[in-house]
Parts: sequence; C-alpha cells; structure tokens
Amino acid sequence: MKIIDRPALAPLTTLGLGGRALAEIRLDSPEDCLHLDDVLAGCGDVRVLGGGSNLLVHDGDLPFVVLRPLFGAKSPCGGAAEPEILGEEDGPDGRRTLIRAGAGMRVPHLLAWSAARDLAGLEGLVGVPGRVGGAVAMNAGAYGCSTAPLMRSLDVFTPERGLHTLTPEGWKAAYRHFSLVEDCAWYISVSVVLSLRRAAPGSVRAAARENFLRKKSVQPVHERTAGCVFKNPEGLSAGKLLDEAGMKGRRLGAMYFSPMHANFLVHDMKCGLPGRCDDALALIREAQKAVFEHSGIRLSMEVKEWSSCLC
Ligand SMILES: Cc1cc2nc3c(=O)[nH]c(=O)nc-3n(C[C@H](O)[C@H](O)[C@H](O)COP(=O)(O)OP(=O)(O)OC[C@H]3O[C@@H](n4cnc5c(N)ncnc54)[C@H](O)[C@@H]3O)c2cc1C
Repeated sequence: MKIIDRPALAPLTTLGLGGRALAEIRLDSPEDCLHLDDVLAGCGDVRVLGGGSNLLVHDGDLPFVVLRPLFGAKSPCGGAAEPEILGEEDGPDGRRTLIRAGAGMRVPHLLAWSAARDLAGLEGLVGVPGRVGGAVAMNAGAYGCSTAPLMRSLDVFTPERGLHTLTPEGWKAAYRHFSLVEDCAWYISVSVVLSLRRAAPGSVRAAARENFLRKKSVQPVHERTAGCVFKNPEGLSAGKLLDEAGMKGRRLGAMYFSPMHANFLVHDMKCGLPGRCDDALALIREAQKAVFEHSGIRLSMEVKEWSSCLC
C-alpha cells in the first residue's frame, strides 16, 4: 500500500480534468484492503479509481480519498500480469474457458491476451482504455458485447463485509449499470472470473480489428475524452439527438463536443486555455436542455461525475 498526499487527479483521467483529492491510496494486493479501516479512519468520503476513462472530476480541492486498486496490473517481475486460466465449462455455444483477471489489469492487455488465445467475448471492448474493475463497474461494452454476461464470479471488498466472493445473484447489471445487491457504502472489485468462448483461430483478433476500424471511423479515439458523455436512450442514439439539437462542435473554453461524434466531449489540450470542469459541466447542462427542447428526451449521464460537493 502506498499513500500519496493531495494527488492531482487530472493526470489520472483520460479527459485530463480535475483538482486534488485528500489522498490517493494505491492498493497493490487484496490484503491491503484489510487495513483500510484504520487508514481511512476519519477521512470522510471515498472514491474508487480504475483507469479514469469514464470520469468527469471537478476542479479545486476535493473532499474525498481516492482508492486505486492495482491488483493484477503487474507481475512480480515487473511486466504486465497475465490472467489466470482456471478451467473449462460447457456453454450453449460450445466449450468455454474460465479465466481470472485482477481489477487493476488494463482492458487492452486483457483483450490482447484473450485474442492471442482465441478466447471470444471481449472483442467489443476494443479501444476501451480502462481497467478491468472499471469495465465491471460500468458494465462496459460495445458492438453487441458487454462485461456482465461474461462474469461468473466477482471478488469484492466492502467496508461492511471485508473480502468476499459474489456469484451472479450478488449483483445487478443493466446497460452501463452495475451494482451489488448487498447494502454497502462502497465496494472495490478485486478480481473477476470471466467465461470466454473458444473461437476459431485468428477470429477474435479479426473481430477486434474490425470493431476498432469501425470505432475509429466514427469516434474521436485519438482525442482526450471520457468516452460517451450520455447513455443512449432506449432505441435511440444520444449522439444523433445531440447532433439534431445543434451541439456538434459546440465549444466553451478548452472543451467542445466533437464534430465527429457529438456524444464525445473533448478536452483541447493545445488551445492555450486551461481545461476547466466547470466549462465541461456548462456544456453538458446546455446539451441536456437543447436535446430536451428539441426532442423532449432527457439524456442521462454515462460519465461518472466526481463532485467537489458532498451534498
Ligand atoms: C476513447 C474512449 C473510448 C471508450 N469506449 C467505450 C466503449 O466502447 N464502451 C464503453 O462501455 N465505455 C467506453 N469508454 C468509457 C470507459 O473506458 C469505460 O466505462 C471503462 O470501463 C471505465 O473503466 P475505468 O477503469 O477507466 O474506470 P474509471 O473511469 O476509473 O471509473 C469508472 C467507474 O468505475 C468505478 N470503478 C473503477 N474501478 C473500480 C473497482 N476496482 N472497483 C469498484 N469500482 C470501480 C469508479 O468508481 C467509477 O464509478 C471509452 C472511453 C474512452 C476514453
């Protein structure tokens, strides 16, 4: 465990925005969680950080401690850790391989590892820059794939029950939503067991590549963003609604809605203006109002806002 005083959060997020938290606690092993009770005593609120790729963090002094689970990110010899192969199971679509991945493992590494072994299921997550714990917490997905249906069990830590293992009855998942059934103030995903289908040689890599080319042709994948700002309302595209409401390209300071895909808020790091979360929030409120006035639809946020206010 390592504790860093008053860390700047902007460098820890893909959007590159945010002020300073009270502290950052790097958790290198699940056992580190067992000491959190003592370490956090009197510290107040807590946030759990993955790869920071789905976050909008407020500016200024932030009244919370950031927990940073890095389990499964690095092997003891320093390189990226590998998932563990646990065994096999039969599925309706053929043989499947069960693997365990630590919550701190990077999604691109997990996808590359499974593609090299022709294990299918994660190829829709191509281009998702987060960590495994964040993919679980967001039920991340695209191109017909999402994380939760692949999950067989999840090891978690909660302040109420400590380290324990959940089976699918222990969580609720929906489109870009994941929560534990049990009551807890917060939870840390420690590791997840995923069931991946055995596919034809080379087919997973080919599908991932095709998905990435599709993604690259319509999304600003090389800009500083936090992915899609808003969830798609059922049967509709938030990007299309934003476009129709005139939000494509709309700019405030260093923040603008991408002219390529209006559901991506971009931080222009080269324009000479400081990136401000307040500008991002003003654009988001403006977009919600414009879409509501134009189509009567209320867009809800996919990006998680880490507020400077505890109210
Ligand atoms: C270029 C780009 C493309 C993207 N494309 C997609 C896409 O195609 N599909 C998609 O679904 N998303 C996409 N995203 C959004 C984002 O990458 C995903 O939501 C991702 O799963 C977030 O993971 P993260 O580790 O970065 O989580 P963070 O952003 O760090 O956190 C997100 C949420 O997860 C929680 N969390 C993180 N780790 C843990 C943990 N170990 N235990 C408990 N809670 C945790 C956080 O508290 C927070 O509530 C994209 C983002 C970018 C920048």
